[in-house]
Amino acid sequence: MSDRMRDTTAERLRNYRSSVFDEASALARRFEAVDLGSGTPDMPVTASVAQAVSDAIAVGRNQYSPVAGTLALRQAVAAHGARFYDQRIDPVTEITVTNGVTEGVYAALASFVDPADEVVLFEPCYDSYIPSVQLAGGIVVPVALSAPDFRLDSAALLAAFSPRTKAVLLNNPHNPTGKVFSKAELEEIAALCRRFDVLVIADEVYEHVVFDGRRHVRFATLPGMAERTLTLSGAGKTFSCTGWRIGWAIGPQRLQQALERFRQYSVYCAPTPLQYGIAAGLALPDTYFAELAAEYQARRDLLVRALDDTPFHVFRPDGAFFVLASFAPSDYGSGGECCGVLARDVGVVPVPLDTFFASLGRAQDLVRFTFCVRRELLATASERLARMGGGAAAPLSSVTLPSC
Ligand code: GLN
Repeated sequence: MSDRMRDTTAERLRNYRSSVFDEASALARRFEAVDLGSGTPDMPVTASVAQAVSDAIAVGRNQYSPVAGTLALRQAVAAHGARFYDQRIDPVTEITVTNGVTEGVYAALASFVDPADEVVLFEPCYDSYIPSVQLAGGIVVPVALSAPDFRLDSAALLAAFSPRTKAVLLNNPHNPTGKVFSKAELEEIAALCRRFDVLVIADEVYEHVVFDGRRHVRFATLPGMAERTLTLSGAGKTFSCTGWRIGWAIGPQRLQQALERFRQYSVYCAPTPLQYGIAAGLALPDTYFAELAAEYQARRDLLVRALDDTPFHVFRPDGAFFVLASFAPSDYGSGGECCGVLARDVGVVPVPLDTFFASLGRAQDLVRFTFCVRRELLATASERLARMGGGAAAPLSSVTLPSC
């Protein structure tokens, strides 16, 4: 017998790399660069929301909530759905509180996907999606959203559907492109879901971060979609508390029952006092939500203006927190290298996009910058980016950089 311990990591996890967001932050610390990697908002949590958490703790609301979540938060989620989307939701039977939306996505896939079921998603996609489908035993069927406008290609969409399609995993507004799907595009997806009898898992966590007067369309409100859609959203982006890990899943009771079975044996429930805080947040006046969108629009404009004066080609986002930027392959060897060079030579760190694609090659010339940090930091980032000039990018030096 050898005294070396074998690799105990489960095989299904071995091909996944560490978080690009953590790596970007590490690069930022190492080079004292502005971290525009992770979409981590830095707005303060509204005082009344924080107070509601303290109050819940003080009055002893510190134990497990039901698996489905506290009734207070489920009622607030239902009221928010009625206020913003004229949607009728039963808070008792049609909502499950999740531990953030990333957990909600995984729980949904684990609850509905059988081995070899196909899941259609739009690529690039948020970096947890592909592993989540695979860990649930499903097969990823990507539909490319291509630059410059990331418009949905009807032929590619139709080609992705088959009798084996179990679910569509939709993210709107879309991370990382900043695309907001048009109503016509959403209707096209809806028609195919009806035709092939497919479930829709709609991650709408950026529902309140849409720009230039747009209004978010909740997929479940399209004709015939309420019965086959699980809407996922959450508090992190809307109330600037991504560390609280509070999200929710809205949809018909039969979907909730499956979700509950999976979650009762995995996470059980979300933190109880924080659920009370978010119930208070969802009741904030309309002005809160309008001001949030206006602030992020101003931040978007700052970053897009700064990037426009660099060698990057920029895609102007209509929603969410991110700007995609492409570079000439002759400037940097890969997105990871680009991030390393920017961290060291410019003092700004984006994230590479390789984990946002099912096939690595397609991410080679793209990086994603977030603009969810405060304006002073964006101003510093802009000054630094301005030093790049508008011509050729900084040359790649021979220094070995950590892949980011
Ligand atoms: N969802 C956010 C993003 O895309 C944050 C991810 C993270 O930092 N874990 O950046």
